[in-house]
Order: sequence, then C-alpha cells, then structure tokens
Amino acid sequence: MIDRYEIERKLARVLSKDLRVELDKLLTYLGDPPNLANVPPEYWQGGWKDIQKDVEPILVDTYIEAAMDLADGIGIGIDWGLANNTAANWARTNLSDLLQKMFQTTYDGVNETVPRFFTENWTIEDLTRHLERWHSPRRAELIATTETTRAVVEGERAAVEQMTKETGIELVPIWLTANDEMVCPVCGPRHKKPITDGVFPPLHPRCRCMSAYEPKKASR
Ligand SMILES: [Zn+2]
Repeated sequence: MIDRYEIERKLARVLSKDLRVELDKLLTYLGDPPNLANVPPEYWQGGWKDIQKDVEPILVDTYIEAAMDLADGIGIGIDWGLANNTAANWARTNLSDLLQKMFQTTYDGVNETVPRFFTENWTIEDLTRHLERWHSPRRAELIATTETTRAVVEGERAAVEQMTKETGIELVPIWLTANDEMVCPVCGPRHKKPITDGVFPPLHPRCRCMSAYEPKKASR
C-alpha cells in the first residue's frame, strides 16, 4: 500500500533542500550590494529545471504506485508499459507548469523585496531573511502535500480510465476529505459525494483529499 505521508515527507525534504540551494544561488547572483540586473534571465526562465530533476522521479513513482494499488484493489491487471508512459508524461507536464509558476512568484517577490535593501537600509542578512520566504521549508511542505495528493489522484484516475477502456466497466469517483480536512470549507461540502463536474483533488494548496471508486449503479 502506498504511504502518502511518507511520500509527502520525502518530497518536502527534497524540495526544501532544493529551495535552499536556489536561495544561495540567487544571493550569489545578486551580490553585495544586491543588483537585480545581475540575475541572468536564463535563471528565471529555466532555473526550475534543477528542481524538476529531483522531484519528477518521486511523482512518477507515486503516480504509478497509486495506479497499481487501485488496479490491485479491483483485481484487474494493468499495462505497466502504458502506466509508465502516462505517468512520465503527466509528471513532466504538471511539474513544468507548477515549477514555472513557482519561479514566477519568486521572481515577483524578489523584485519587490530587493529595492527595500536600499530604502530600508538593510544588511545582506536582512535581505536573506526576507528572501527566505520564497525558499522556506514551509513552502516546500505545502507544495509537497498538494503535489502528492495530485499524483495519487491522477494515478488512480489513469488506472480507472484504462480499465474502463479495456473492460467497459464504469466506476464513479467519490470525493473523500482527509480526516484533518473535515472542517475545510473548500472541500468539506464535497465529502462522500460523487464527482460529477470533472474537478478532482487537490482543490487548494495543502489539500489532502482523496478519491474512492464505486461501481456505477445500473439505471433502471
Ligand atoms: Zn481538500
């Protein structure tokens, strides 16, 4: 069985370390006194690929494991080769999108923050402390939780889709909130309801919701 908390922790650890490396890189580029023009445009455009290298394999494994678990649970076989391809494609697309957005947010934050070094007479230590916000373990953890949810849910969806294609059996996805999310105003109302609008977890950052599948009841 897939241990999603273990995956979350592993992912958070990897991301946390990577973000720390990015902060060091950024500070080195900026220099002392810091100059935004010293950061090469290539860094903002492609720097995320260093993080992708570390994170993608974890998400691919999670996706495949979730797909396999679901297939085992229903008692059907699944095409490993196909699952691997689907997982790799999904992870690459999802992750490049996510990391580019993440770098964009960091870019905006850094561009707003660096001028304060001068206007507020900061030291480099002050600047570092302020830039840590975009490179913090907390940010790493938030991304890790949300993306673990996404990998599990999407892996299961892919398995169900493949099964339906091969057997014609249709399953209905049901939204399940995590216990710690029962009070979540975003996901709470969806708890135990069938998913009919094509919207699957995660619905918000740090969402730990899941989906379960039930056989489609024959309409009479
Ligand atoms: Zn949720």
